[in-house]
Amino acid sequence: MNTKIVATLGPASDGPDIIGGLMEAGVDVFRLNAAHGSPEDHRLRIQRVRELSPDPEVRPAILVDLQGPKIRLGVFESGSATLATGSDFVITTEPVLGTAQRASTNYPGFARDVRPGDHVLLADGSVELRVLETDGVAVRCRVVSGGPVWDRKGINVPGVRLAVGSLTDKDLKDLQLAVSAGVDLVGLSFVRTAEDVRALRRRMEALGARRPIVAKIEKPEAWQNLDAILEEADGLMVARGDLGVELALEKVPFVQKAVIQRARRLGRFVITATQMLESMVQNPFPTRAEVSDVANAIYDGSDAVMLSAETSVGHYPLEAARMMARIIAETESTLGNWEPPGSAPAPVSDAPILADAAIRVARCSSAAAVAVFTVSGATARLVAAHRPRVPIYAFTPQAAVARQLTPVYGVEPILTPPMTSTDQMVAYLDRALLERGASAGARVVFVAGQPLGRPGITNLLKLHVIGS
Ligand code: PEP
Repeated sequence: MNTKIVATLGPASDGPDIIGGLMEAGVDVFRLNAAHGSPEDHRLRIQRVRELSPDPEVRPAILVDLQGPKIRLGVFESGSATLATGSDFVITTEPVLGTAQRASTNYPGFARDVRPGDHVLLADGSVELRVLETDGVAVRCRVVSGGPVWDRKGINVPGVRLAVGSLTDKDLKDLQLAVSAGVDLVGLSFVRTAEDVRALRRRMEALGARRPIVAKIEKPEAWQNLDAILEEADGLMVARGDLGVELALEKVPFVQKAVIQRARRLGRFVITATQMLESMVQNPFPTRAEVSDVANAIYDGSDAVMLSAETSVGHYPLEAARMMARIIAETESTLGNWEPPGSAPAPVSDAPILADAAIRVARCSSAAAVAVFTVSGATARLVAAHRPRVPIYAFTPQAAVARQLTPVYGVEPILTPPMTSTDQMVAYLDRALLERGASAGARVVFVAGQPLGRPGITNLLKLHVIGS
């Protein structure tokens, strides 16, 4: 399978048999959602994934998803309350226990940022309020459309510029834990500008770490600033849950397609996320519409598709992952000469020129694979952006780079010893591909950089015959 699977871990998937089963079903990346669970829960999950993997240096990757500046309600007297349409509801920055009339929020600036007339959405948009007045501490709202809310449910204020920072104290603690536990990729929620991504990178550098950053596109500001965010981020997630609340549900399909196209054009990987097989939280089979959604995300050109509640809190985590794998296998078998909309990176400098050439050579010669020797992983990502049907073997001497490439379309990372000559690379590649079932005499396009071992150099292309 070329399209990768990201699965979110949670209470439904903590058992070793479930984690092992998810790996067998084809999960490439495990996601830890820092918004839920304790640091200890996440530490155990990381340990378990590493212990259960037959090849932990190379796969699976672990992605920690930082909560970011998510605004939430506080806790309620009895865990929940039902807000009546037409009634008043106060959101206050003072610590109060919630009722059907009032509740607190975790964001101290809330009552300063909103204005009368603003719309406030609770619980993924299922309850709608309109601001009547604010005194800088408490915000009195009218309930436009009522319903139940629970402890710590999310608050969205679409179109309101919040004076909240991009990284909270909790994010910084979670980041520190994630880095020290050796996670491979870091996701950032509620990105608004490229500076949010730079701020996270600076924080990581201060911790002596460098990990690829996955910017979650879920705010209207992120959609507006997409090109600048793409320049900074290594990958994107189309986070359709909050996107549907912040923007509007009916805008999600177009934004998904546009984000995927723009990410691919710059050689960034892109994960399509949220509610892909949502009904499998409760049922062993998905709906036809959900199956189509996964397939369409592949036709759009996603690198990876993601399971959230299906594997973290659902009743059928293994069935959901197996179903995802079946849909991917079937959809990929229909692709033929299908090209996802948009284009791969323009061949304007050495690495994209070589990636472009490698794909053309692979097509014309009916090569069985593209083999990229890569130090940073960048050339493998550029080749992947062309969405070839053949596998892309990414040979790298660094285990961290191997795992970081795991979410990228079609890339199978292979860990190598440090190489001292291109002859050694070719010999290594022959052995590795023969072990993986390639036939002697098959062609493979070999891409590398000389001098060896230096990042940022891609200047070598060979049409190689395996075993020759
Ligand atoms: C989303 O909103 O779609 C998303 C992936 O983020 P989270 O699961 O953190 O809400």
